[in-house]
Amino acid sequence: MATEEDLIDYSDEELQTTEAAPAAADTANGGAATKKGDLIVSGGRPDKKGSYVGIHSTGFRDFLLKTELLRAITDCGFEHPSEVQQACIPQGLLHSDLLCQAKSGLGKTAVFVLTTLHSLDPVEGEVQVLVMCHTRELAYQIKNEYARFSKYLPQVKTAVFYGGTPMQKDIDVLSNKETRPNIVVGTPGRLNALVRDKKLSLRNVKAFVLDECDKMLDQIDMRRDVQEIFRNTPSEKQVMMFSATLSQEVRPICKKFMRNPLEVYVDEGTKLTLHGLQQYYIKLSEQEKNRKLSDLLDNLEFNQVIIFVKSTLRANELDKLLRECNFPSIAVHSGVSQEERIKRYKEFKEFNKRICVATDVFGRGIDVERINLAINYDLPGDADSYLHRVGRAGRFGTKGLSISFVSNEDDEKVLKEIEKRFEVALPEYPEGGVDASTYMA
Ligand code: ADP
Repeated sequence: MATEEDLIDYSDEELQTTEAAPAAADTANGGAATKKGDLIVSGGRPDKKGSYVGIHSTGFRDFLLKTELLRAITDCGFEHPSEVQQACIPQGLLHSDLLCQAKSGLGKTAVFVLTTLHSLDPVEGEVQVLVMCHTRELAYQIKNEYARFSKYLPQVKTAVFYGGTPMQKDIDVLSNKETRPNIVVGTPGRLNALVRDKKLSLRNVKAFVLDECDKMLDQIDMRRDVQEIFRNTPSEKQVMMFSATLSQEVRPICKKFMRNPLEVYVDEGTKLTLHGLQQYYIKLSEQEKNRKLSDLLDNLEFNQVIIFVKSTLRANELDKLLRECNFPSIAVHSGVSQEERIKRYKEFKEFNKRICVATDVFGRGIDVERINLAINYDLPGDADSYLHRVGRAGRFGTKGLSISFVSNEDDEKVLKEIEKRFEVALPEYPEGGVDASTYMA
């Protein structure tokens, strides 16, 4: 049994993101001439090549989804499909391979969850859908999205597999007739181990999905696992990949896994910052950070706040300090057991704690509706990571506030890089603070 997989956790600060790519060029692959900020769709079915897609107001009904899915969508309170859903769901339903970039928090998950659930014809014991992402919490979250949307499809079984938990548990799920999944969500290390040990068969896979695909493919160790898993799936299948950041460098790598994919760039490079999110920085010394943070938490109104730090050690220390000062804080990072990590994730998501100190484990993909304040206690090392982190606030077009501490020359360089990459001016946090009505929903 491959126990070393338990040691592989790609999801914390030991992972160094590659340097942010230069601002995306205005030309999507395939040579289609484009304007900045346009929804760009190219590739896929020949008749779509290089075309622009106008945005029409559609309802979920227009997608002709299974009635069971429409009922679940209504239960979730989704009224209208977002732009990315309008652009991608119809193509996903036609089984096109899909490479999609759209802003954080605008509903990319529902694109693949709905399209794969619609196409799924569950056969007992056959895994037909495989979804991979870079962190365990995100895998857990995606599994819950499948649970929400398959509420009226009781025959559909979904399972989530990730490292840091006993592999025997996964093997039990896979070998029990009652629990054998049709949909598998997971992180690549554990999935690869299960495939290698012949506990997980992928020969019936019809849909192969990578969420946060740039993160998964720009890390050599994770890419190797993804490739290995990919090799174990049939050649005839639909491949879909999603991220808020798809640099020009990573796009060809993604496309190696695809056949004539439809490329949808809802928001090109410089347009990726969220409209409802106010972003500021504060210049201060390292020693002033705690004091400033405490002032901000005392004086700002917020529903939930996420505070990013650069290491597990700092996450623990800061969390401890905040709790000593009676702030309802919790820390999420890779330094605790997996079971504990998921427990803390749930505690925060369910609003039992209002403050979360996190490493980059929570820097991408994590969807906590009530977060409307994101603080970079430590600035990340590159602009793309910044974008993902602050995108934890202001989900699905809601308002939010982000404040980044800038305490040394490296931070200042990253700040400039962010401004350049996303064509935003990041102003200094005003002395008198910010009026809560401008960032509270
Ligand atoms: P992304 O993957 O693009 O970052 P998510 O898929 O996590 O975004 O979606 C962000 C939030 O928006 C989630 O809470 C999700 O339930 C919600 N959401 C997605 N689509 C819709 C919709 N059409 N209407 C209302 N809320 C939606």
